[in-house]
Amino acid sequence: MKFSVLCSRIAIEAKTQMETICIVCPNGCRLTVKSTSKGLVVTGNKCSKGEKYGRDEASDPRRVVTCVARTSSSHYPCIPVKTEKAVPKKMIPHLLKAVYRLELNLPLKRGQRVIKNFEDSGIDVVLTRSIPPDLRKART
Ligand code: SF4
Repeated sequence: MKFSVLCSRIAIEAKTQMETICIVCPNGCRLTVKSTSKGLVVTGNKCSKGEKYGRDEASDPRRVVTCVARTSSSHYPCIPVKTEKAVPKKMIPHLLKAVYRLELNLPLKRGQRVIKNFEDSGIDVVLTRSIPPDLRKART
């Protein structure tokens, strides 16, 4: 099953109740999160991790973002990147625009931060692979 399908909410019956699938482990428990006078109540979880996931998903949903950034090399035109930690979902479109504006010069090293502290969120974007110097370009 696709990650995006797992992540998607099955239904939002009302603002007081939400159904989702826990993606913390392969069990994929179907969770119901209800907003009550005592706060958020999660049911359907088989463990405490699911309860935390359900609460976070209802109050502050976040995702680790993976995508590619451009390089200045015609031989290696793009390189995979990811956020170091999960990003609030509402911030993702803006973060992607910032990544797509990048044009990185070789050499590039895995783990190198290409965006630091995005909009004071404490979130960095890092490279997930290395690319050596573009030797063909250097020779011309
Ligand atoms: S609730 Fe627990 S057992 Fe169920 S999917 Fe989440 S982490 Fe796994």
